[in-house]
Amino acid sequence: MPIKAQAVRKKTDTKTLSVNFSQIKSMISSLTFAKKVLVGLAILFVFYAISDIVSVDADAHSQAPEVLVNQSQLISIPDIPLMSFAESGLVGSEQLVEKTVVVKKGQTLSGIFTDLGLSQGLLLKIAHFNEDSKKLIKVMPGNALHFTLTPDGDLTQLRYQASVFEELIIHNDMEQLSTELITHDQQIRLVSVQGSISNSLFGAGKAAGLSDNMVMKLANIFSWDIDFVLEIRSGDSFNLIYEKIYKDGEYLTEGKILAASFTNQGTKYEAVFYEHEDGDGSYYAADGRAMKKAFLRAPLNFSYISSSFNPKRLHPVTRRVKAHRGIDYAAPTGTPVFAAGGGRVTEAAYNKYNGNYVFVKHPNGITTKYLHFSKRAVKKGQRVKQGQTIGYVGATGMVTGAHLHYEFIYNGVHRNPRTVSLPKSKPLPSDVMPEFITYSSPLLTRLSDLETDLIAQN
Ligand SMILES: [Zn+2]
Repeated sequence: MPIKAQAVRKKTDTKTLSVNFSQIKSMISSLTFAKKVLVGLAILFVFYAISDIVSVDADAHSQAPEVLVNQSQLISIPDIPLMSFAESGLVGSEQLVEKTVVVKKGQTLSGIFTDLGLSQGLLLKIAHFNEDSKKLIKVMPGNALHFTLTPDGDLTQLRYQASVFEELIIHNDMEQLSTELITHDQQIRLVSVQGSISNSLFGAGKAAGLSDNMVMKLANIFSWDIDFVLEIRSGDSFNLIYEKIYKDGEYLTEGKILAASFTNQGTKYEAVFYEHEDGDGSYYAADGRAMKKAFLRAPLNFSYISSSFNPKRLHPVTRRVKAHRGIDYAAPTGTPVFAAGGGRVTEAAYNKYNGNYVFVKHPNGITTKYLHFSKRAVKKGQRVKQGQTIGYVGATGMVTGAHLHYEFIYNGVHRNPRTVSLPKSKPLPSDVMPEFITYSSPLLTRLSDLETDLIAQN
């Protein structure tokens, strides 16, 4: 149910054209009579066309800001191009040339300009022209730049989708730059969803109208508390409030989860997205402690494990000499395995018992071990971040099927990683807590209400 809508700014900004008369005059004097007649006609046409553009421009300024100004009205490209027409003195059907460059990795704006035969001076001029034109510098691989060139290869227009909601148009008319920034209307609607698991998390997500991507986002929030591979049970439930983003009234994409709760085997976890100071928000529990902790509950990507995959079916360990002191995650070969926490790789090797294996040493006397990889993704001595892929599930060593054997060792003693109590994360600074409580309370209340609704329905 949508409970909030935010409308945001919109602006269009245009600057007028200018004509260099002396240039045209000197050009005319150097021509034959027949050409002069043609140029005369051309000039008349140019003035007609310019007056047309200026009048459209004036209309654009008088329009109410709610009405989106179509850029094609502002920059009507005539069938016979104005610039080449006036400059060359030829009456012809020469067309402006449209060139689209999709920026490749490692490619620079400077290189793109050179490739198109455009000067570095022009690029510098654009880059420093105004605040809007500076957005061009932020171009990223995969972005498209749309160039409009005269038949002589001069730039007349450059269009660039600066962000999902902003299109930048740079005009270069008679060496005079102007910019236009078209800002599309953005609305964010908040959607509340509840779900209950009978078979799988993805199945429950689908039944609740969530995309697989949103289910992943939900699981990621709780991945330090809940083992989504082994611990999910029928009857587990979740509630969430997330954003749906609309562009000019049309649904565009999902946004972030603002608040969520997950009840796993009777234990309820809650999280609220909160931005404080640095602007980079993250998830916090109701008591203001960060959801992110030193160790992930499950060191592998649960989304690779299909819902029909029964972890109890496979018991891969047979006749091991040592007592079994880890957890086995039955998973398809190739499933990425993550470092459960940040640390340094102390072993990355192969032997006939462990197959391909990796050991990671973490702060505070904790070591994690990962066995039977099909392939290792790290080297001995390497630093790894939490969540970094260190290898892929396989069936190497003494095993009967593909699985990950995972061990958690604290001060030399094997611990059950599923039940070991780990240090709590730090809470938000006390001076921020009042604001956090004020912000998070209504969201958490709404989550609880959803839960009540669900119980009432059943
Ligand atoms: Zn094992």
